[in-house]
Amino acid sequence: MREIIDNLVIGGGPAGTAAAIQLAQAGKGVTLLERKQEPHDKVCGEFISWEAADYLTALGIDLPALGAEPITNLRLVNGGESIEAALPFTAWSLSRRRLDAAMLQRAELAGVKVHCGAAAKNLQRRDGYWQASVRTEGSSQFYTELHADSVFLATGKYDLRQWQRRKARRTDNRIGFKMHLYLSPNQQMALQHTVELHLFDHGYAGIEPVEGGKANLCFLINKDVFHRCGKRWPDLLEWLRRSSPHLRTRLTGAVQIWSQPLAVYGTPYGYLHRSQAGPIGLYRLGDQMAVIPSLAGDGIAIALYSGLLAAELHVRNDAERYHREALKRFRRPVRSAQIVSGLLSTTKGRRLALWLASRKPALLAGVIRRTRLQGPDQLACRRSASPV
Ligand SMILES: Cc1cc2nc3c(=O)[nH]c(=O)nc-3n(C[C@H](O)[C@H](O)[C@H](O)COP(=O)(O)OP(=O)(O)OC[C@H]3O[C@@H](n4cnc5c(N)ncnc54)[C@H](O)[C@@H]3O)c2cc1C
Repeated sequence: MREIIDNLVIGGGPAGTAAAIQLAQAGKGVTLLERKQEPHDKVCGEFISWEAADYLTALGIDLPALGAEPITNLRLVNGGESIEAALPFTAWSLSRRRLDAAMLQRAELAGVKVHCGAAAKNLQRRDGYWQASVRTEGSSQFYTELHADSVFLATGKYDLRQWQRRKARRTDNRIGFKMHLYLSPNQQMALQHTVELHLFDHGYAGIEPVEGGKANLCFLINKDVFHRCGKRWPDLLEWLRRSSPHLRTRLTGAVQIWSQPLAVYGTPYGYLHRSQAGPIGLYRLGDQMAVIPSLAGDGIAIALYSGLLAAELHVRNDAERYHREALKRFRRPVRSAQIVSGLLSTTKGRRLALWLASRKPALLAGVIRRTRLQGPDQLACRRSASPV
């Protein structure tokens, strides 16, 4: 079966849905494919920065109504030392399952044709249009072919076969894990409104409250550690408790919500799509455009911004500007976040970060600002979803 459409969005994460909503609101016909049939969890710290929250609000997503937890404090923990700082703006914490589902619903409301359980398998430029083969979940047969004028590639960490991202010079040797927990009442109280970052050799862990009285534990550790733990989750958790006494306290009496953690390996942190003149009518969004180190940057904000920027330029018939503009916008935060996370991976760097946080908070705030798309000052007066 063949279907001719105007705009095809591949991927129903924040990047794809932001672009789809914005395009539909501008009166464009949009079809969105999401390979998973049902709302699903993703490896993510689930920290929604003030920038991301601003874009979401402008897209019609009501974070408090979805049960998102307001986050007003950052606690940095290094070994036995910890330091707490008030965030300059309220950030939020919400499970990706709930956030992504809400965005897909919002897209449908805006008039986007959303197909869940539909994966794009091939994408090629042929006879002046984009041709994608689509397969439904659970079926081995291609059921339809879509012919589109423009394609918004928002598949996150999954590369489409002919459209792989450039390989990083060095593969990131760390594995990301995520588990939702019920903390004991005391620990839940201690974590209220707080994102806690535990820094240690071989990686870091983040823990914060999410909706429904749960907490999200998300951490990155070297693959070697995982192997040394016999690739067993309980041993890995024990390793984590030993690496951070503070985290040991947090996890005392905690109940795991899932039987197994989610995991991801080889995230290409620091990736930037450099080709400024891509094939006409193909926009790379979110993690397909730039991958910011998760310890120091906001992947969700970048994803949303890229979707909004691409949609805006597409509506203005200014497609050729997109990759150039996105690269210009994302290069500095991605590079800065790489430097910060590199620094925090060393013992001296971690000590310096805690020292700066206690003695020179303004300097630290300046460093953090460089890892963001825009400073909070500019954000305060920003109320539109449109980034250009
Ligand atoms: C360990 C870790 C912690 C992180 N923590 C944070 C954090 O706390 N805060 C933050 O802001 N960012 C965080 N990030 C980054 C953030 O998760 C990503 O940058 C963000 O999800 C990117 O959004 P996206 O829309 O590009 O991709 P995704 O959110 O991955 O969405 C892509 C979607 O495309 C779908 N898809 C894939 N292939 C196909 C196909 N062929 N056809 C149809 N659909 C397809 C997938 O099912 C998926 O739903 C973290 C990342 C990692 C690895």
